[in-house]
Amino acid sequence: MKAKIQFTEAGPHEWPVCPSCKKELREIKFRKRGWLTTLTVFWCPHCRSLLSTSTTFNG
Ligand SMILES: [Zn+2]
Repeated sequence: MKAKIQFTEAGPHEWPVCPSCKKELREIKFRKRGWLTTLTVFWCPHCRSLLSTSTTFNG
């Protein structure tokens, strides 16, 4: 039996919650940096906890 993740679309009043301050993330701040590769940093607007980073190669 295979494990399966079910994807359910969120309703209009469901929001993700910051793992640090537990406030609803209705917006996420981000900043881009770089030229050949773009480093994007995402953080919580309430407590400024780092949520995620992603690197994109602009090839
Ligand atoms: Zn937070």
